[in-house]
Amino acid sequence: MPSDACEVSLDAVNKFYTRGKRALCDLTVKVNPGEFVVLLGPSGSGKTTLLRSVAGIERISSGTITIGGAAVSSGSNMHVPPERRSLAMVFQDYALWPHMRVKENVAFALARTKQNRSTRLATALEMLERVGLSHHADKYPNELSGGEQQRVALARALVAQLGLVLFDEPLSNLDADLRERMRIEIGTLSRLSGATAIYITHDQSEAFALADKIGVLEHGRLVQFGGPESIYNQPASEFVARFTGISGDIKAVIQECVAPGMVQVAVPHSSGGRILAKNLSNAPLGGEVSLLFRPSALRIVDTNTENATLRAIVTDVAFRGRGYDIALRLQDGSHLNSIYSDHRMKLNESVGLSVDPVGCFVFGGRTSSLDSQSLLSCHPLHEKETVA
Ligand code: ADP
Ligand code: MG
Repeated sequence: MPSDACEVSLDAVNKFYTRGKRALCDLTVKVNPGEFVVLLGPSGSGKTTLLRSVAGIERISSGTITIGGAAVSSGSNMHVPPERRSLAMVFQDYALWPHMRVKENVAFALARTKQNRSTRLATALEMLERVGLSHHADKYPNELSGGEQQRVALARALVAQLGLVLFDEPLSNLDADLRERMRIEIGTLSRLSGATAIYITHDQSEAFALADKIGVLEHGRLVQFGGPESIYNQPASEFVARFTGISGDIKAVIQECVAPGMVQVAVPHSSGGRILAKNLSNAPLGGEVSLLFRPSALRIVDTNTENATLRAIVTDVAFRGRGYDIALRLQDGSHLNSIYSDHRMKLNESVGLSVDPVGCFVFGGRTSSLDSQSLLSCHPLHEKETVA
């Protein structure tokens, strides 16, 4: 099928709602043709506003949006209406026509093509076949499950090969078991179609699983844009690190700069082993910081082994099928969760933790009274794709 994928770019886009609410702040981002970009952010961060602005449902206050090289919104005056933007959208609530059969819902997306009715229906059936729903073609949407309805919506979005598909949290109304299957289907079929995809969600695991690139939104600002791996390994801020999944954090003090961007920290009740972390703080030597751990950075080990740099007590054991998620309490009283174990551990069991610097980040920058003179030459090393 491949469609002619569109480049989408937003340049310094601002959106004020009435009563002064600023939902998008100087937002600049470029989505390359054929790329699958996920915009990730908590509720209220501006995701829906951004998507609706690209779709043309919402008017921007200033800035420019271009699709396929042509400006579709510029400032508060120039605004191409949604029906002339040649893009398709998949909504949270499926938004199918209840009075039309499944095949007619899909064929409706071809209404503006020059194809005659029977060709449109044949093309719709082909697309339904691809999403595994051809046997439901003559049913009405209310005769289908939520997952099936969302597949119809996906078929409708892809059938016209418009080059740009927008997804507004399409999995959030589905049950957990369906969500994963549908996530795979969306990823596979959108990529097969060749279209550019912009997908918004508040779910970090969905974002990491689907995206070629992730943009993280905070209060209407794009705070980081990059590949899933770079966002996981090099979060631009404490907010990004927390929002993309940590086991927990503890207070620490910077002891020594061991390499550019890498520091050794002291933590309360450590067993004496070295704890190294990526320095993303502005703290000087001796500065008090927060040490954040990705779940992947922590490994449960025997309390006596050399690499058991932290000691903890097991407070919760959750069986996850492929293993166990362990929650722990450290000696200073702080909690860590989602730590992997391949076997069931006992509640209140004492364990050691080894810490991999790759998933440990130091943020913050309060100067400790212990030592405020020595400023550190070991400051954040961010990748170029990081946005301020
Ligand atoms: P998200 O989709 O990330 O939850 P939204 O784009 O829906 O975020 O909202 C961003 C901000 O704009 C929020 O503070 C929200 O309350 C506000 N907002 C959204 N729509 C409107 C509206 N129609 N009128 C006024 N404020 C709005
Ligand atoms: Mg929303």
